[in-house]
Amino acid sequence: MPETRYLWNPPPVPSLPVRGRDERLPVNRIFCVGRNYHAHAVEMGRPVDKSVERAFYFTKSPQTLVASGSTVPYPSETKDYHYEMELVLVVGRPGFRVSAERAHELIYGYACGLDMTRRDLQLAARDKGRPWDLGKDIEQGSVCSEVVPLEGVVIERGEIALEVNGQVRQRSDVSKLIWNIREILADLSLHYHLQPGDLIYTGTPEGVGAVVPGDVLAGRVEGVGTVALTVGPAEAG
Ligand code: MN
Repeated sequence: MPETRYLWNPPPVPSLPVRGRDERLPVNRIFCVGRNYHAHAVEMGRPVDKSVERAFYFTKSPQTLVASGSTVPYPSETKDYHYEMELVLVVGRPGFRVSAERAHELIYGYACGLDMTRRDLQLAARDKGRPWDLGKDIEQGSVCSEVVPLEGVVIERGEIALEVNGQVRQRSDVSKLIWNIREILADLSLHYHLQPGDLIYTGTPEGVGAVVPGDVLAGRVEGVGTVALTVGPAEAG
């Protein structure tokens, strides 16, 4: 086989550090679950009735990943940049139409993430029936910690919390997920052939809010780890 030659160097593979390993985890796709804690669904004005609704998802490009501990510029075209603290599920095995009972077989581990959101653009799009991309698929808008290997482990409870400048803004428990880890994997695998390196941001609890330049965010999920972000000034020009 001749070596494939490209017009220019291909972009780097998006990846995350793995606790206890020298190798990095190559990231495939980023899926996000919408409205997966009741109190957050209510604060967004869209309560969820699980008896008649299915989970819904949106995606963020892997190129939007940014390492925990980074300082990122306040993004363009928004006046309402929000944090969303989330437990991130990391897929380690392929799976398609996986039952909830076997869903744990797909799990490589977990991480702590921030699904950063241009809330003004997201809500404008939502209310016009337009796609959410400009509100969600934001450069340096998918913050993720190191991956913690927990193969086959289903996290069912544990505090999830976020502090901004040392003040608690979000505090809930993973046990309050509307669609739990098994249900998310089973349902998402009806739509997609899940692949190793797929990340699933599982949704944020209540207490989302806006940041301003200079804010320091520190999140944690009990039993997983921590994630941090500093918001810098907007880019000039
Ligand atoms: Mn989210």
